[in-house]
Amino acid sequence: MSSPPHDVVVIGAGAAGLTASVMLARAKLRVLVVSTENRRNSCVDAVHNVPYAEGVPPAQLYGTMEETAREYGVDFVWDEVLEAEAGDVGVAVRTRGGGRHTADRLLLATGPIDELPSWLPEGVWGKTAFECPFCHTHEHDGKPFASVGTGLEAIGMALMSVQYATTMTAVVSDENAAGTPMAERLRQAGGTVLVDEVTGADRDAEGSMTLYTKGGAEVAAGALLIPGVKKHNLRFVPRLGLELNENGGIGTTTLGQTSNPRVWCAGNGSGNGPYFMWTGAAASGINAARSICEDIAFGPLLDSYWAQVKKAPGEQGQKA
Ligand SMILES: Cc1cc2nc3c(=O)[nH]c(=O)nc-3n(C[C@H](O)[C@H](O)[C@H](O)COP(=O)(O)OP(=O)(O)OC[C@H]3O[C@@H](n4cnc5c(N)ncnc54)[C@H](O)[C@@H]3O)c2cc1C
Repeated sequence: MSSPPHDVVVIGAGAAGLTASVMLARAKLRVLVVSTENRRNSCVDAVHNVPYAEGVPPAQLYGTMEETAREYGVDFVWDEVLEAEAGDVGVAVRTRGGGRHTADRLLLATGPIDELPSWLPEGVWGKTAFECPFCHTHEHDGKPFASVGTGLEAIGMALMSVQYATTMTAVVSDENAAGTPMAERLRQAGGTVLVDEVTGADRDAEGSMTLYTKGGAEVAAGALLIPGVKKHNLRFVPRLGLELNENGGIGTTTLGQTSNPRVWCAGNGSGNGPYFMWTGAAASGINAARSICEDIAFGPLLDSYWAQVKKAPGEQGQKA
């Protein structure tokens, strides 16, 4: 099972991969998207902070984006990529279903890996439990909130969401965090900082939780924030020989170039933190698509072109 050669193979049909694939196909490149179906936010009822799609179910949003991509000629293979390699002559990906797909260039848009705590009840992730203070907190206005983590990050999340909460409890395992100015600021805003560790939780039919701690406390969590669940997805890094950045994620330029000249990386799967929300991931897909188009159009002149052309404010050059 193999597809005809493409110019670009994109791994991941999420915000970054689908956005990039449309731009690449509109530039008349032959694009193949190879992906599994579950996106990070597939578990939510509706997306928020996405222009023109406020309140739209994720399946509808992705369905429309896939349709647009198909209309511009993007090919799709729905399968898990097990291996990706990039050599002198091009790139190849191998899928669980036995497919092997080749192209000239590769865009990694796999998203990160969400590692949920073992105590989190079934079915609450994306409904009443989140890792972001912007995406779904508004929908839980007027409930008791909790924010659970190691230290400052959990207190920071609590401060960002305290305006919605009837009660806000930050449960932190690092006792030093409780003595910080951030903790004091949370207390002044009406929140509580509990130095403890969550070991279990129950939920009711609506997904409201009671958290149980090692120290014997019970914490009400009609909505729960859990920072730190998002882990770097480094699955393809060793084989592709990609360099990591100081955060331990895949190192890229602003335009998504990795240390491998045939490989770009965009979206939440890139080591670039600012792309954490949906539109950020989509924007990084646009950046990567632009860079791939320039790479193809300019060929060996790419670096000298960028060395001579004055960059717009805030725009970074091609190489990190
Ligand atoms: C619970 C939750 C709710 C969220 N709600 C919102 C919101 O309302 N608004 C907002 O702005 N942001 C929201 N976000 C963040 C948003 O979902 C992400 O910023 C965005 O999805 C990242 O896009 P991406 O393309 O990097 O990754 P994804 O959208 O996750 O896409 C990655 C794709 O790659 C595929 N893939 C991964 N590995 C492989 C492989 N080996 N082989 C084949 N395919 C693979 C996946 O199946 C997926 O289709 C939410 C996140 C979470 C976790």
